[in-house]
Amino acid sequence: MSTRESVKGDLDVVVVGAGFAGLYALHRLRGLGFSTTVLDGASDVGGTWYWNRYPGARCDIESIDYSYSFDPELQREWQWSERYATQPEILRYLGHVADRYDLRRDIRFSTRVTSAAWDGGAARWRIRTDRGDDLRCRFYVMATGCLSLPKTPDIPGVERFRGETYYTGRWPHHDVDFSGKRVAVIGTGSSGIQCIPIIAQQAAALTVFQRTPNFSRPAHNGPVPAAKKAAFDADPAAYREAARWSRAGVPMNYSEVRALQVSEAERLAAYEAAYASGDLLALNAAYADVGTDPEANETVCEFLRGKIRAIVRDPATAEALCPKDHFYGTKRPCIDTNYYETFNLPHVRLIDLRRDPIRTITERGIDTAAESLAFDVIVFATGFDAMTGAIVAVDVRGRDGARLAAKWADGPRTYLGLMTTGFPNFFTITGPGSPSVLSNMVVSIEQHVDWVSDCLVHMRAERLDVIEPTPAAEAAWVQHVDDCAQITLFPRASSWYMGANVPGKPRVFLPYVGGVDRYRKACDEVVRRGYLGFAFDGPGGARCNDGVVVRLQLDVAMLLERLESLGLPAIETMSVADARAFSRALAAGRPPGPAVGETVDGLLPGAAGPLAYRCYRPASPGPHPIVAYFHGGGWVLGAHDSDDPFCRDLCVRSDAIVVSVDYRHAPEDRFPAAADDGFAAVEWIAANADRLGGEPGALAVCGWSAGGNIAAVVCQRARHAGRPGIVGQVLVNPVTDCDFTRESYLHNADGYFLTTALMRWFWDHYADPADRTHPKASPLRATDLAGLPPALVVTAEFDPLRDEGAAYAEAMAAAGVEVQHLPCRGQIHTSVVSVDVILSAAGARAEIGAALRRFFANARPAERRRAGSR
Ligand SMILES: Cc1cc2nc3c(=O)[nH]c(=O)nc-3n(C[C@H](O)[C@H](O)[C@H](O)COP(=O)(O)OP(=O)(O)OC[C@H]3O[C@@H](n4cnc5c(N)ncnc54)[C@H](O)[C@@H]3O)c2cc1C
Repeated sequence: MSTRESVKGDLDVVVVGAGFAGLYALHRLRGLGFSTTVLDGASDVGGTWYWNRYPGARCDIESIDYSYSFDPELQREWQWSERYATQPEILRYLGHVADRYDLRRDIRFSTRVTSAAWDGGAARWRIRTDRGDDLRCRFYVMATGCLSLPKTPDIPGVERFRGETYYTGRWPHHDVDFSGKRVAVIGTGSSGIQCIPIIAQQAAALTVFQRTPNFSRPAHNGPVPAAKKAAFDADPAAYREAARWSRAGVPMNYSEVRALQVSEAERLAAYEAAYASGDLLALNAAYADVGTDPEANETVCEFLRGKIRAIVRDPATAEALCPKDHFYGTKRPCIDTNYYETFNLPHVRLIDLRRDPIRTITERGIDTAAESLAFDVIVFATGFDAMTGAIVAVDVRGRDGARLAAKWADGPRTYLGLMTTGFPNFFTITGPGSPSVLSNMVVSIEQHVDWVSDCLVHMRAERLDVIEPTPAAEAAWVQHVDDCAQITLFPRASSWYMGANVPGKPRVFLPYVGGVDRYRKACDEVVRRGYLGFAFDGPGGARCNDGVVVRLQLDVAMLLERLESLGLPAIETMSVADARAFSRALAAGRPPGPAVGETVDGLLPGAAGPLAYRCYRPASPGPHPIVAYFHGGGWVLGAHDSDDPFCRDLCVRSDAIVVSVDYRHAPEDRFPAAADDGFAAVEWIAANADRLGGEPGALAVCGWSAGGNIAAVVCQRARHAGRPGIVGQVLVNPVTDCDFTRESYLHNADGYFLTTALMRWFWDHYADPADRTHPKASPLRATDLAGLPPALVVTAEFDPLRDEGAAYAEAMAAAGVEVQHLPCRGQIHTSVVSVDVILSAAGARAEIGAALRRFFANARPAERRRAGSR
């Protein structure tokens, strides 16, 4: 480390880190007139590419993409020599950037920041370093990297080894010669997979210690592919813009087809093409559900295992190299050059630590449970304390001396991955809660640096000194980040994305999985709406613009965007016949829902003639309780089989027979035909429970939308008539009233699939205005709701019917009915019934199944008998 005087100073901005992020931050901020100093523990620029000098280190996002876009001149003058550049080339690039923009003069190298404390009185951060520096700044930016703090290997005896030890993430600057040596490599993540084939070329003997096998496939590295270069050169600006608005920061087409929708031959051909492409993202892009559906993902896993088995000659080694404990993509997948082939070399050996764990490292080597091995060199490729490690390694103190590490003890809490409440004027570049490691990091870095720079310019213009996110905005973002993760397979893996590689680290999914494009849109919207979710203070005045930027669930937003892009006509503009054909066509393409034991179609007597029904029986042995189900469709559309996937889901989750009954539709048969049919059907089902394979007396009703209306009305009529006995009712987004003035009708009038205009169309077809207030049409208007069966009422936040559903739940509860109201955050009218489409509603579907089971379990046997005898 060079010697230098410790420095004091008062700056606009202190940036920690001189990698891709810190360099660009310095360039931008300085260019905007902010006095800026960068501090880095390294002796030169480069960050990741300064520290990771191990043999074989290179990027796995193509270099054309993995490079700055902020200056067209820079783009023009720098040509990459390879498709995936090596560490030395990337480091040269960053050195070139530092020189080109004269950045080094404002960077203090070999300087580690140890603490940062907010002084509220002075509205300054006070930064201290291991060089005795004491800096004050208005804004503190941590560009400390997501993968910059190597994890200390949790292996006993590490310090005892007398041979050479190397850490891939802290590789020395001198050449390391493995010739003639016995080398151990511990770890088979990205770094291990890159260095193992190269070390094997030199070493006399190489032993690889593997805890978790990873999915890897050939990178097919070489010169920059001509097609890629042509696409870029044709219009670099357009290419970069496409990257900024892509899912992962690389222009790429993602399939909208589900993996199991196509034949095995077609699927394998798609996987072969992705495999041959050498593109890290290609397998994920091959089918829409690779990241969300276990069965779809397993087809990728098995394809890749087949490749490993075909390459590695020793079957036991091949099997040990085949990942079986995680879904493809839920741990960072790798691309390699001759990784699996390396295990065919006679001097290379794999030790599977799951079978033969390391007991200890000794002076001369490594003792496993089974043997004692001698080595000259041990290479630790054991990964990083990712995303939060480098941030909380600094003692960061916010308002009132609060410690960041304490605030994040149960997982990081940020707004947009950019800021955290209680720590004013503190920014993280690619912080947790942003796309970061799930994206091409350079694209994400540039976006964050630009956002922060623009924010500082805004504050300067508005004479504002202090910025901080509001607690509500932060809480909602944390929730959104988690909601998004939960619909994917990511949380099921013990990965560093989940903090699982570091003992004691909370298991929280750290990055934002919603995509670079969607994330950028949210950040832009925050600004457009006057820095929504932020509070400011300063001579320009104090202001707080509290609010939540993303409220729809990710999959709901994607579905709505897709529907909008199709430019479908509004149903209420169609004839009834066309509307029915249209809704049948929409339903035709949806996933089928889970398998049930069997389905049987039949006819039952309605109030004015036979009604079709479909009976879904569980695979488990009967007799089962029965759920009488009424489909949605505004009394106009649909049939006994139109909610087929949802009925299957209900059947499986409740382990009950589901009898989905048709009813007469409007406008052919107007009010009260549907309600009368509903009641007649339930009476018939109760009387014929035996015939249906059901348990007499164990009868519940369920309905969605207009079907929820019928289910509610049926319960009221059954109570009034004293028959049949109904042990519970599940009303999913039910129509309960004809009043269009409730807030949810006004706020959700348009844009969420079910519109206010469509609801008017439905009502107009179903009932005359004079009839609509009748409790058989508007069950909320019944004078007495006491004595109704226990109920679960499900409502969706973005549904015109939300408030009337909630009002019905409230009214029943007020009348002494046992009611559970399940408001579904970020959902729309169709979410719950969209099985295997809206995955974020799976929790609500599980609650419905649980409620039905509870209704049946709670129904007292005597009551059941009584009900059964009717
Ligand atoms: C081997 C490897 C390959 C990768 N390949 C890719 C790829 O192909 N594509 C991709 O998108 N991403 C890749 N990444 C991720 C990579 O980290 C980012 O792409 C990018 O380099 C991060 O830049 P950064 O400036 O944010 O952080 P870094 O490059 O990590 O720089 C952070 C700097 O902060 C300094 N620092 C941290 N704490 C302190 C402190 N307290 N005081 C002083 N200095 C501090 C560190 O010394 C470091 O120099 C790879 C990572 C690794 C490890």
